[in-house]
Amino acid sequence: MEKRVRVRFAPSPTGGLHMGGVRTALFNYLFAKRHKGDFILRIEDTDQTRFVEGAEEYIINALKWCGIPPNEGVGFGGGRHAPYRQSERKELGIYKKYADRLIESGHAYYAFDTSEELDEMRKRLEAAKVVAPQYNAVTRQNMRNSLTLPEDEVKRLLESGNPYVVRLKVPRNEEIRFHDIIRGWVVVNSAQVDDKVLLKSDGMPTYHLAHIVDDIEMEISHAVRGEEWLPSAPAHILIYKYLGLENEMPKLAHLPLILNPDGHGKISKREARFPVFPLSWKDPREATPYLGYKEAGYYPEAFVNILALLGWNPGNNEEIFSVDELAERFDFERVHKSGAKFDPEKAKWFNQQYLRKKSDEELANAFEPILKDKGFSAEKPFLMAFCRLVKEKVQFVHEFWDQGKYVFIAPDSYDEKVLSKKWKENSKEVFTSLMNAFSSLEKWEVAAITSCFHEAEAAKGKIDMQVLRVLITGVAGGPQLFDMLELIGKAAVVDRMNKALAKLQ
Ligand code: GLU
Repeated sequence: MEKRVRVRFAPSPTGGLHMGGVRTALFNYLFAKRHKGDFILRIEDTDQTRFVEGAEEYIINALKWCGIPPNEGVGFGGGRHAPYRQSERKELGIYKKYADRLIESGHAYYAFDTSEELDEMRKRLEAAKVVAPQYNAVTRQNMRNSLTLPEDEVKRLLESGNPYVVRLKVPRNEEIRFHDIIRGWVVVNSAQVDDKVLLKSDGMPTYHLAHIVDDIEMEISHAVRGEEWLPSAPAHILIYKYLGLENEMPKLAHLPLILNPDGHGKISKREARFPVFPLSWKDPREATPYLGYKEAGYYPEAFVNILALLGWNPGNNEEIFSVDELAERFDFERVHKSGAKFDPEKAKWFNQQYLRKKSDEELANAFEPILKDKGFSAEKPFLMAFCRLVKEKVQFVHEFWDQGKYVFIAPDSYDEKVLSKKWKENSKEVFTSLMNAFSSLEKWEVAAITSCFHEAEAAKGKIDMQVLRVLITGVAGGPQLFDMLELIGKAAVVDRMNKALAKLQ
């Protein structure tokens, strides 16, 4: 029988969750949803030196904002596998049992080396031109561990409370084979794998041991994680094997990296010229906060849609997908092996697509506080009409102001380029007569404004629409002219034209 799908997102609370992390969470979420399985949030906080205050809360809030909440785990309610924080699980003695099992079966050992001794070893190996010095089947023979020291000395050291770590005993020359859903079969020689620390001297398990124990105990069916974990996968395979858990281990899927727009290197939060965090993030150890997608004006649906297409494709040209639609289509077959280039301009385009789908009322509600901030207010129907009109021109709600502020403020300067090119000798007269025709219009609405304009043209000859726009708004471009005139209102239009014509010769 196939295992029930249970996947986990297992971040370490070492900082704000960046977009790569959210993408990992998203693919886990989609896979669980597609297979009606469980999506678990496990906090991997065994490295106390890297713990960052506020990171866990941030992760929880980010998943909520993205609309991809786990159904089990820290911050989302317990299941029968609680607790879901590794530091709490350690207190229950969960990991030590497994480390002991490995020691008893001869697949792990105690190592008593001090950090000075480890440094010395590294220097010695570097001096001997060893490219990647590591604690392994060869070098361990010259170190202080339970494989080299006499048994009674080991016993004495352990009993006297001497600090020690537990290391995995990796064979010297053995082929390690494993299957990755995205990458296929991977073969690595154990000579490339170091004797990883499994339990640290403070009794905390390392990630390598802890995640394996938890994946087994939490009945995880698929471990879906970033490509950066691929190099440690061979060591993990050995641990499963030595614990006799090869048949129970989750299937592995290592997701491709998200690359910079130029295709070089992983996105870096310090260099990126676009947000890399879902929500604004202030690291307590750094002075400057990072702007989030949310605060930059992105809709969570757009953000999720963008991330889904970084490394996965639906197999056709479709691009716009809701989370539910993604979950219906998502599978690992269509996840690429190679890194996915992030395109910040395309990201904005996605937001625009979602913005266009919003109702006028939603947009008006979102724009209202921005308008208020600028010192203006308007009735809801007016704001809705404004948003309907300007919507085509913006990618974000906050851009409504820049794109349409002239609806609220009469211009005090006029686009010189347009006027110098198009202002004719008789322009003043032509526009004055149009203004008079406007002012005697009874019904101020698009159809009437349009025919009034055409009648004026019939009488006076072609009237340049762009000049008319500049007289009323000051700027050369914008949404549909006559719709905009209707919105600005007759009195204001006439008044603005009057003032402009008085200024222009
Ligand atoms: N704690 C690891 C991380 O921070 C999790 C890796 C995994 O999913 O196995 O990315």
